[in-house]
Amino acid sequence: MKIVDVRCAIIADTPVVRVDCDNGLSGFGQIEDVREYRAEYVKQQVQFYRKFIVGLDPTDHQHVMVKINRFVGFKPWGSVVSAIDVALWDLLGKHFGLPVHKLLGGKVRDKVRVYNTNTGEPLKNYAPEDYYEVARKRKEHPYGFKIFKFGVGFHGGILDGVPESYYGTTLGGPHPSRGHLTESGLKYLVRCVEALRNALGDGVGLALDCGPGFSVPSAVKFSRAVEGFNILWLEDLITGDYTPYTEVKAYKIVRMKSTVPIHTGEQICTRYGFKELIEREAVDIIGPDPADCGGLSEIKWIAEYADLHQILIAPHSGFNGPIGLMASVHVTSTFPANFIAMEFPFAQNKIWWDGGIVKGLPQPLVEDGYVKVPEKPGLGIELDENIARKHVREGDEDFFETNAPK
Ligand SMILES: [Mg+2]
Repeated sequence: MKIVDVRCAIIADTPVVRVDCDNGLSGFGQIEDVREYRAEYVKQQVQFYRKFIVGLDPTDHQHVMVKINRFVGFKPWGSVVSAIDVALWDLLGKHFGLPVHKLLGGKVRDKVRVYNTNTGEPLKNYAPEDYYEVARKRKEHPYGFKIFKFGVGFHGGILDGVPESYYGTTLGGPHPSRGHLTESGLKYLVRCVEALRNALGDGVGLALDCGPGFSVPSAVKFSRAVEGFNILWLEDLITGDYTPYTEVKAYKIVRMKSTVPIHTGEQICTRYGFKELIEREAVDIIGPDPADCGGLSEIKWIAEYADLHQILIAPHSGFNGPIGLMASVHVTSTFPANFIAMEFPFAQNKIWWDGGIVKGLPQPLVEDGYVKVPEKPGLGIELDENIARKHVREGDEDFFETNAPK
């Protein structure tokens, strides 16, 4: 059995990777993001990696990944390697007639808890009343989520729009602003968190995506100020999205001084990127993204290693569609008991969810905040080529031609 081709197409605004074998089987993976500035980059990268893995035996999965995972980098530069890893697992599952979770060691849970970050009701002005309204609406979503995450603080440049909220420089997104909170900035943040807790009520997990950007004293002060609101975790207070480093020492200081669990990790790649963070017990919870950290193989290692250090895991998901969702569900179903929940990815292009591009998704997709673990071979889903062809970007049509060299 040999890999004969690797290719990529933009389908409904999402880059999809396909790995073909000489026996006619194909596996599929999905790239982390739909943003335009990444689309052309990922297509070129797929071509770059192609020459390293065509001709190899995909049943030697680790051998294939060793050939390319030395090129992996901090988010988003690891996304192509991660997508190829997912496509290989899908391919192997189809070849052996087993669901991906069995190839990864087997599931320990039949359904995976997912947390909500976005159901399409954006916050308009990030005022406490706005947080209250949006939280109330999200709580009523038919998927029945029991954990909600909201961006506060420096996340997404929110504090840039709040006058006199911090001492620092506004850089303009997506570059993360950094700074030290003013008294009014801290009070504003606490009012937002209070509004969220009031809207969600008791018995619902509330996580806050905070940065990156807090100074260490501001991070500590904020964590203590929201102590009474039963926060599930404070994410990326110091570094995170768009920062190609981790600041392990700073996280350790914040963790030691906070009673609210501290979380980070969405931008970090490979088990080696997590090593120091885990060994120094610098956070309570890690949030690697299987779409960026090197794929299912890497996140499995990271989850197990964290568990050995009593560190919890709540993976981020940059996947913008159901291929990525199912890949994440398979791998998290095999995680040890340190697993809390994984982020549910709402694709920006809704056609991925209700347009029939993917067949075999659980129905309902999410029930009471859980996704059922698929039991069909591979990822347990199939691309409907006829429908996918209608949404493929012009110039990418040969993606669907079996084993055609690209
Ligand atoms: Mg985040």
